[in-house]
Amino acid sequence: AGIIQIDNLSKEYAGGTRALSNVSMEIEEGEIIALLGPNGAGKTTLISIICGLVVPTGGTVRVGGHDIRTDWRAARRLIGLVPQEIALEPFEKVINSVRFTRGLYGGRPDDAYLEKVLRSLTLWDKRNAMTRELSGGMKRRVLIAKALSHRPKVLFLDEPTAGVDVALRREMWQVVEGLRKDGVTIILTTHYLEEAEEMADRIGVINKGQLLLVKPKDELMGEFGKKT
Ligand code: ADP
Ligand code: ADP
Repeated sequence: AGIIQIDNLSKEYAGGTRALSNVSMEIEEGEIIALLGPNGAGKTTLISIICGLVVPTGGTVRVGGHDIRTDWRAARRLIGLVPQEIALEPFEKVINSVRFTRGLYGGRPDDAYLEKVLRSLTLWDKRNAMTRELSGGMKRRVLIAKALSHRPKVLFLDEPTAGVDVALRREMWQVVEGLRKDGVTIILTTHYLEEAEEMADRIGVINKGQLLLVKPKDELMGEFGKKT
């Protein structure tokens, strides 16, 4: 079975918005999958449910075989989330911010691993800087370091390049490429086809709460090619 199994997932928010309708999919360990869809499609809702931040109306999600509703602690240990908004304590040191998140997610203290993460994100030299001193790109990398701090098997990136310039978008793509080599399963959301194509092995297209299709990138891009 895949590292993530989603069966018949639905979400209706209070007020009646149907954000997800009967979504099912399986995600294999080590793959990079992009959830592609316009604003309001339901992408953030889907990853928020998998991460245990939003309660679904129906359906089930298993992470590493653990049901997120009945076995949430075990499930969330396997998950790291890079949220869309940059939310960092301005006067906190980078290293402390990362350690704090590690504690929240039940990670064991392992400073050799943290050093490796910070080095791979070229943040090691900035570990004692306060987060307010960092550039936008560095702040985004701190969020990734926090999400990786407890050695998750699955990393979620919610709109990793929304509102960033071309140079920073490239930088994010390179960071993801680096994580691929570590075997981390990556699920990212985007509304750019180009970004899905650049980063993902497989692309799921979501619109109006429905998963329209999930296909290997090459197959999907081949189909777009045929139509033009
Ligand atoms: P996306 O991430 O693809 O932009 P979202 O999952 O954020 O989509 O939103 C899907 C739909 O659910 C939208 O219509 C949005 O307005 C609605 N929605 C999202 N969050 C909430 C919420 N907390 N309460 C009510 N409606 C919400
Ligand atoms: P704070 O310092 O305000 O607690 P965090 O970075 O810990 O900020 O969390 C910001 C948001 O991202 C929260 O909604 C939190 O639940 C989520 N989050 C952060 N890190 C992880 C993670 N490793 N796994 C799952 N969710 C995370």
